[in-house]
Amino acid sequence: MFNLVLFGPPGSGKGTQACKLVDKYNLVHLSTGDLLRDEMYKGTQLGKEIQSLMDNGELVPDEIVIEMIRTRIKSKGNVEGFIFDGFPRTTKQAEELDTMLKEENMDVDMMITLDVDEDILINRILKRGEKSGRSDDQNPATIKNRIDVYNTRTSSVIDHYRAQNKYVSVDNMGTIDETFEKLCKHITI
Ligand code: AMP
Repeated sequence: MFNLVLFGPPGSGKGTQACKLVDKYNLVHLSTGDLLRDEMYKGTQLGKEIQSLMDNGELVPDEIVIEMIRTRIKSKGNVEGFIFDGFPRTTKQAEELDTMLKEENMDVDMMITLDVDEDILINRILKRGEKSGRSDDQNPATIKNRIDVYNTRTSSVIDHYRAQNKYVSVDNMGTIDETFEKLCKHITI
């Protein structure tokens, strides 16, 4: 069992790298952004609330994302481990993740942060928005707020894993394949 928290600001390449890691190591990809978008597309009341927060670049309340992750961990079946992408985004979420995994006799094995300069992030997100159609990837004010929220509310999650000696950082300024190679060197499954 190997559980990886793939971390970094919006546009740092977490989703892209997570997909490659899932293929190579047979892990289950849990992206809270994807789970929240699925709920949003259903058009439920909860989905509408999520949409309004996402469109403003704000975080969805901890309880909602924690329950989404809890359900997936509880019904895990016979998996080799998880890649958590975009979760945890607050210290509260990180603490709850530790507890949820412990209840299933698991642990976070490693947190890897993808490091990218801020001006590159904005360009990458805008480019992604042209293809994905995601409204939060197309509005410069929303993108700026997402990066601010990362800096003020999310980046401190690093301290949580650093204190557990699980924190690793990888530069993602180069190509997708270069970064993937660096990530794989850290993963010893
Ligand atoms: P992402 O696809 O990871 O870029 O997430 C898109 C948006 O979903 C974020 O800007 C937040 O509004 C919301 N979101 C995703 N993951 C979380 C999380 N762990 N906690 C709170 N909000 C989240």
